[in-house]
Amino acid sequence: MAEKRDYYEVLGVDRNATEDQIKAEYRKKAKKYHPDLNPDDPTAEAKFKEINEAYEVLSDKEKRARYDQFGHAGVDPSYGAAAGGYSGGFGGGFDVDLGDIFNSFFGGGFGGSRSRTSNANAPKRGGDVHVSLPLTFMEAAHGCVKTIQINVMDTCSECHGSGAAKGTQPVTCEHCHGTGYVTVQKQSMFGTVMRSTSPCPVCGGKGKTIASPCPKCSGSGRVKVKRKLEVTVPAGIDDDQSLQLSGRGDAGINGGPNGNVIIVVSVRPDPLFERRRYDVYVNVPISYTQAALGDEITVPTVDGKIKFTVPDGTQPGTVFRLRGKGIQYLNKGGRGDQYVEVQVEVPKKLSREQKAALKHFDESLTVEKNYEKRKGFADRIRKAFGKD
Ligand SMILES: [Zn+2]
Ligand SMILES: [Zn+2]
Repeated sequence: MAEKRDYYEVLGVDRNATEDQIKAEYRKKAKKYHPDLNPDDPTAEAKFKEINEAYEVLSDKEKRARYDQFGHAGVDPSYGAAAGGYSGGFGGGFDVDLGDIFNSFFGGGFGGSRSRTSNANAPKRGGDVHVSLPLTFMEAAHGCVKTIQINVMDTCSECHGSGAAKGTQPVTCEHCHGTGYVTVQKQSMFGTVMRSTSPCPVCGGKGKTIASPCPKCSGSGRVKVKRKLEVTVPAGIDDDQSLQLSGRGDAGINGGPNGNVIIVVSVRPDPLFERRRYDVYVNVPISYTQAALGDEITVPTVDGKIKFTVPDGTQPGTVFRLRGKGIQYLNKGGRGDQYVEVQVEVPKKLSREQKAALKHFDESLTVEKNYEKRKGFADRIRKAFGKD
């Protein structure tokens, strides 16, 4: 990047030039180097930017004073730090976007080629319709078929999307002769005749007008309808995952494709099952006696109740794994696992007899023989604090 040129030199004015002199020189130079007036000169755009940059500073009293005192560093914080030259936005409020500069010069409408890209006749894809689908844990685990109701924009059945009343046709717009565009000639502030193109104000760029609009859709060609859709929810789907019904969303415009229906699944919490990806977690409370003696317990799974044998001496919080008893993988074979955590429930509201019986039983036990954890704990305490 070449060293920045002095702004006064860029505009070709004296350092003591008045505001009016600066403005006059700027206009002269801007016209001379305007890229659209110099299509064969590849350097014109760079020069035009340079002129604008210089003018942006010298036309502003405060910036000009800073520039006079500190040079480029006074008005551009990036100057010297990055060799990016004109970075735009220094001091704020000055956008380097050429379209904006042109528009402020010629009062808009410049560069009609830009607006031509948004052709009102171009086929447009219909909008997507988003809908939330609440499911139970089991519906998500096993899959299901659900009926949803959605509001969609549908092609008007009365006019088949033309927007014209029955028996009539849209006619070629007289204002733009069907092109959808009008060309306006403007004289710029430099005296140059500029031609600009904009969408036809009569037909809105469609090139056709509707004399008698279709009463059903008011000429828009589409109507809002309620539609019921059947959704096949695959087994294994999870909360926040989505399904898509292609082409079932809003009708396209000008023959464009329809949008999609996007269904976001929300799975309600379940009182029995907790799901983590494809694994299922279940807590089962058992009694002290069941834990001590072992027992056959009932465990809920996604496939229904099963019998499971808890071995004797099962400790609270033990987690048993039921391999392959979890959720069906989405769109492929195989299943996750189920984890069963046993919780030992301590009995409450004991009668006097029950308390006595329990006490009697407890006295028959010894830490040494019957309680592994309590024995280990007592040993560790002794090790730490000594025998008392
Ligand atoms: Zn209609
Ligand atoms: Zn028109």
